[in-house]
Amino acid sequence: MLLKITLLPGDGIGPEVTDEAVRILETVAEVFGHQISLTRKDIGGAALVSSSNPLPNDTLKACVASGAVLLGAVGGPSFDGVAANMRPESGLLRLRRELAVFANLRPAVCFPALEDCSPLRAEVVRGTDILIVRELLGGIYFGEPRLIQGPNGQRSAIDTMHYSEPEIERIAHVAFELARARRRKVTSVDKANVLDCSRLWREVTSRVAMDYPDVQLSHMYVDSAAMALVARPAEFDVLLTENMFGDILSDQVGGIVGSLGMLASASVGGPVALYEPVHGSAPDIAGRGIANPLGAILSVAMLLRHSFRLEAEATSVEAAVADVLSAGHRTRDLAKPGQEPISTSQMGNFTAAAIKQRAKSVA
Ligand code: NAD
Repeated sequence: MLLKITLLPGDGIGPEVTDEAVRILETVAEVFGHQISLTRKDIGGAALVSSSNPLPNDTLKACVASGAVLLGAVGGPSFDGVAANMRPESGLLRLRRELAVFANLRPAVCFPALEDCSPLRAEVVRGTDILIVRELLGGIYFGEPRLIQGPNGQRSAIDTMHYSEPEIERIAHVAFELARARRRKVTSVDKANVLDCSRLWREVTSRVAMDYPDVQLSHMYVDSAAMALVARPAEFDVLLTENMFGDILSDQVGGIVGSLGMLASASVGGPVALYEPVHGSAPDIAGRGIANPLGAILSVAMLLRHSFRLEAEATSVEAAVADVLSAGHRTRDLAKPGQEPISTSQMGNFTAAAIKQRAKSVA
């Protein structure tokens, strides 16, 4: 198969982790006999520097014309002062909107080898396997009006949270469908005791649930969900939530399973899907070759599975990651005191070698 992919390395550790993701794609192609056509384009701060636009037209064109898009991360302190509509993050938000990817899937699995990397006790985190289904194109990140107004010292700011019934319905259907292939439990997270958007969210998700009598729906306020995730993470199956709550809770879950650097994501719902690690550009560690590339590598597994229906290839990447962790390899974010951390590229190399090793043992 020809895998036509647009690569958007972005900023900070984005290029470092996507280099390893590409190494994995190339390894999978070699082992399973596929061809890759990779187009590299700028986004975010890198695109601001090269063409004064966080999402240049040629980047968007390449994305729309490809079979899947793989992104590193955008943003960084050197762009903090630029106008809101020119910020690196606004390029990514626009890309998600242009690709119409309204459903962001964020699996968070505690690999057995990482049970002791969690700040939680091993018996609490053991068996954690959560799929966060986050609404990605609505809510307070896109609502209008949004502005800061008034004279200095008296300024006020407005952000608008907005959700329509069709927006809630379509993401709820995604969550219920996915739950059917898992443990058939959906926890819908909102703030219905305070927000009208959440009251509508709760009403619509309850209505959609009637189409899925085989799936159990429960509702939780976001504050209570934050607590329950830390106290009993293994009890969650599919966690369905709106844009901002999903953004926050998925970073929390990253901490629970050992490191934010482990989490992958797929943004789906439009004709071309977008894959990216959950973490940001991590400016505090960028350029040092110490970032954990496994979130980006596991995003490759999601890309192979969802965009190209290559289940065996996706599974081989996930199994290779488990092998590498079981062998004790740890980047700095996962290493315990006294454990020698490996570099970003070493982690990529070990994972590529594990894919080849598995293929050899099957042959
Ligand atoms: P971050 O996710 O970049 O980093 C949070 C912490 O996690 C940092 O200490 C970082 O070193 C660590 N970390 C993140 N990824 C890691 C990895 N792969 N390996 C090891 N450690 C890792 O979040 P932040 O610091 O709040 O944001 C930095 C910049 O990234 C900001 O400009 C923000 O807007 C942007 N951001 C972008 C995205 C995206 O591109 N999708 C997402 C979140 C934040």
